[in-house]
Amino acid sequence: MISSVCVYCGSAVGYRDEYQQAARAFGRALVHAGMKLVYGGGRHGLMGEIADAVLQANGYVIGVIPKLLLEKEINYRNLTELHVVENMHERKKMMADLSDAFVALPGGTGTFEELLEIYTWAQLGYHEKPLGLLNVSGYHDPLLALLHHAANEGFMRYDYISLLQVRSDAQELLDRLQRYVQSDR
Ligand code: AMP
Repeated sequence: MISSVCVYCGSAVGYRDEYQQAARAFGRALVHAGMKLVYGGGRHGLMGEIADAVLQANGYVIGVIPKLLLEKEINYRNLTELHVVENMHERKKMMADLSDAFVALPGGTGTFEELLEIYTWAQLGYHEKPLGLLNVSGYHDPLLALLHHAANEGFMRYDYISLLQVRSDAQELLDRLQRYVQSDR
């Protein structure tokens, strides 16, 4: 059973309305599925959108933020839980420990880095938690093309590509992750 999902997403909202709408829809879908949100604790960008959407739907939000970023952010006073940690390494470990699944929404290098790290850890066998990509308006198509390129060129096993569940719809993605946990990992 998945009870909490770690979401990596942009500290910006992006240029298309679809990105914000998708972040909010994903937040609502989490609450509907009875799952907690674990995220980076920020209030800007898609991070803020998803946290707001979960809180507005009376869901549970766990933010994990390093001291340095807390100084830049006016933190969410009303997050259900806010953990302030020393540095990014501590943060990533805590986010991973608190979560049963990981999902990336559109974002920039911070989002890519977080996703690729947890994805690599899965490939190396450090965890067996499901990984999802919410591919809003094809935003992640270039990343998926890069993964296929890596496999085509012999730098990645093809079967690792399917470790990443890719959907454009929030509910479908959560259902897929839940099924992955229950059966066919
Ligand atoms: P990016 O995709 O480059 O905007 O980076 C977003 C990711 O990096 C998020 O998933 C966060 O974990 C982290 N991050 C970047 N900026 C912030 C911020 N101002 N506050 C909290 N976390 C942040």
